[in-house]
Amino acid sequence: DMLQVNWNVSLVLPADVLTRVSEYVPEIVEFVRKIVSNGYGYVSNGSVYFDTQRFDTSPQHSYGKLVPEAVGDQKALQEGEGDLSISADRLSEKKSQNDFALWKASKPGEPSWDSPWGKGRPGWHIECSAMAGSILGESMDIHGGGFDLRFPHHDNELAQSEAFFQNDCWVRYFLHTGHLTIAGCKMSKSLKNFITIKDALAKNTARQLRLAFLMHSWKDTLDYSANTMESAVQYEKFMNEFFLNVKDVLRAPSDLTGRFEKWEAEEAELNSSFYDRKWAVHLALCDNMDTRSAMEEMRLLVGLSNSYIAGRKSAKLRPNRLLLESIASYLTAMLKIFGAIEGSDPIGFPVGGQAVDLESTVMPYLAVLSDFREDVRKIAREQKGEVTQLFKTESVSGQPTVVKLVDKETLLREREEKKKMEEEKKRKKEEAARKKQEQEMAKLAKMKVPPCEMFRSETDKYSRFDETGFPTHDAEGKELSKGQAKKLRKLFEAQEKLHSEYLQMNGN
Ligand SMILES: [Zn+2]
Repeated sequence: DMLQVNWNVSLVLPADVLTRVSEYVPEIVEFVRKIVSNGYGYVSNGSVYFDTQRFDTSPQHSYGKLVPEAVGDQKALQEGEGDLSISADRLSEKKSQNDFALWKASKPGEPSWDSPWGKGRPGWHIECSAMAGSILGESMDIHGGGFDLRFPHHDNELAQSEAFFQNDCWVRYFLHTGHLTIAGCKMSKSLKNFITIKDALAKNTARQLRLAFLMHSWKDTLDYSANTMESAVQYEKFMNEFFLNVKDVLRAPSDLTGRFEKWEAEEAELNSSFYDRKWAVHLALCDNMDTRSAMEEMRLLVGLSNSYIAGRKSAKLRPNRLLLESIASYLTAMLKIFGAIEGSDPIGFPVGGQAVDLESTVMPYLAVLSDFREDVRKIAREQKGEVTQLFKTESVSGQPTVVKLVDKETLLREREEKKKMEEEKKRKKEEAARKKQEQEMAKLAKMKVPPCEMFRSETDKYSRFDETGFPTHDAEGKELSKGQAKKLRKLFEAQEKLHSEYLQMNGN
């Protein structure tokens, strides 16, 4: 249940594989069988034990690699073996007191599975070896666990797995975490100081819990108490206020020219401190992941930045934006690595504590803008266009409406230009109509002329005509050539046609 609650917190990733011992009994039996056949296990009275001496004297192996000084610690060993092995007859089954059970014969009424050695159940340590081995194979990079599991549990896991795989690198690194205590006492049901993650999350956010863990060494005891959580809450508040201050400084005129800011001694000094603290954070994390020191260095950097901002403001000077942005971005990136900041904001904690959905954040504002636009349109219609349009929207198909705020002069100028264009269009249309009318008048005038009259007035060209009014001689008295006469005949015939149309038009 605690794990389940844990997963629902966005900062904790779920496991890739979950295993149940009861589903791995065949693998466990096979694991034990092979250890015996490799010579590192022996059957005794229905149980199977690991031969620590045989293993330790083998040139390839060494027993108790994790906590050599604990080998022979009978109290720890018996706690590891559980109640069944404490009885004298159980102890006598073993070749050495250091040997531990791989498989335990079950007494009547105890849970049991069939095995080559009779009804029994897996020893405690073998469960982990068989399950991890069946999924990860003969070697793994990191094995985690609580500090109390180092001996005998992890030392025995290591020995039996290396006896099974016949290697000496089943686990490359063990990470043993410190204990969690509640108000100074070990968490236990009998002490009734048990707290579930669900209870803890009712009091603090997942981020505050994570900050509390980060502010402590992962390998040392962490005491969950009001004081511990108060420190985490204060740390979060301190960081958050810094991020908000930097965002405020950055919100000032954001044009590029405003970012050219000369560095004075104060900026050079802050920058130097920034690099020193970054290096200190790096060194802390290289030292066995010392997040506690790293977090303190980060707090120090914020303190220095706050002093710088206060100094600039009291001198009526604007703090350097690029420098503060760099520092805030760095701190944000570190907190993201630590899992204390989720989302993609470049600076600070996400608003509202969780990753922000852009659409749900922006849409209400867009809706308000849209309503406002409709209202203005409505007023404009009611006032019959007398209201000066104050903003306009531009739509591109498939894209959201673009809202642009424009000044009154621009709108008036645009309106004036539109008016001029319309007037010019009207003027051209009227001129075209007038020309058309003139052409029709001219045509009508031409139609009125009978063919017999059309050449008679042209005395500058012709001197004599026949009875139909067709020219026969030019102005100089010379007879017209056949070619000339042919051309004139065409014009004459065209006029005959035109004039007859005119006569028909006038019903004459
Ligand atoms: Zn284990």
